[in-house]
Amino acid sequence: MTTIHIDPIPAFKDNYIWIIHDTKFAVVVDPGDAPPVMKYLRSNQLQLTAILITHHHSDHIGGNRALLEQHQIPVYGPKREAISTVTHALQDNDTVYLDALSLTLKVIEVPGHTHGHIAYFGLLPNFQKKNILLCGDTLFASGCGRIFEGTPQQMYRSLKRLEQLPDDTLVYCTHEYTLSNISFARVVEPGNAELKQQEQRVKQLRRENKPTLPSLMATEKKCNPFLRCNQPEIIKITSQHAGKKLNEPLDVFTTLREWKNNF
Ligand code: ZN
Ligand code: FE
Repeated sequence: MTTIHIDPIPAFKDNYIWIIHDTKFAVVVDPGDAPPVMKYLRSNQLQLTAILITHHHSDHIGGNRALLEQHQIPVYGPKREAISTVTHALQDNDTVYLDALSLTLKVIEVPGHTHGHIAYFGLLPNFQKKNILLCGDTLFASGCGRIFEGTPQQMYRSLKRLEQLPDDTLVYCTHEYTLSNISFARVVEPGNAELKQQEQRVKQLRRENKPTLPSLMATEKKCNPFLRCNQPEIIKITSQHAGKKLNEPLDVFTTLREWKNNF
């Protein structure tokens, strides 16, 4: 019985390529760039056994070809998006069994950022018993992805689905956006004491140049304004920003997302 580790490989300006591994085998998530992955595999003497993709953006798939030149391995990805390197197309409720790591992941379709975006949810096997969520550019720590291809309604529904996952779920998103997300969250919910504490924690981590991820679903429920569209303070401030009374959580969400785009 070996322990599974999930480590971030930094790429580009603020991406993390998550690598799930034991002492021998590894799976990478959204390898936008191949060289840092190859370097990590070499220096940790790991064998790559699969690639998981959440959506088609180049900062998430750009390293696939180069990795496939060196490894004959399956590439899992969303059925609803045309990604030429994907060998196993997945849709809602499918399961992926990563046999090298004895890890089973469930697929959750989370359209919004892109039209076919998927997330992977699973429980680390054996004694570890940790819930993990690999959610790409959908749920971020104290934020959410931009809506490029879907509608605000789709994105809101996707986030609400992820919110149903257990509180102890570790949330592995793919960008280090936490600090700027919190700056925005503080403006729309200044009275949230939990968020204020989280800001201090995150600032300290960034000062030490450490990743702020993974987050925890329980923390997201307490701090992420996009999951808190029914909170009176958020409704009030978002309504002021919109110049009209917003009654529906979806309207609050839509206004928040547009506001954040220009924040
Ligand atoms: Zn993206
Ligand atoms: Fe991205």
